[in-house]
Amino acid sequence: MTRSLKPTYCKLHQRVLEKTRVKIVYGFIAGTPKCSPDYLRARGTQFPHTDDAALGGCLVRAQRSRPRMVCPDCIDARNEWLKEHCPTWAKTHDLDGM
Ligand SMILES: [Zn+2]
Repeated sequence: MTRSLKPTYCKLHQRVLEKTRVKIVYGFIAGTPKCSPDYLRARGTQFPHTDDAALGGCLVRAQRSRPRMVCPDCIDARNEWLKEHCPTWAKTHDLDGM
């Protein structure tokens, strides 16, 4: 399992990434702030290594999660961003889902 080109280090927060599993979401996603251009822009620059759910597209498979390298500081920044910009949504959704 050492063969990997995935990132292992968060340049933004100067820390080593941790391996975790993220949910996979299948099908059409709507009504989530995570699809908004503002969120995607913020994620690209402020919290690139989160445990956000992965898009499984329209393929229906039994797989429910997949491994990913994440940065705990990115996850914190992501959660803060959602609470600040989408407080109502953040109260009623898993912040690591879609
Ligand atoms: Zn980070």
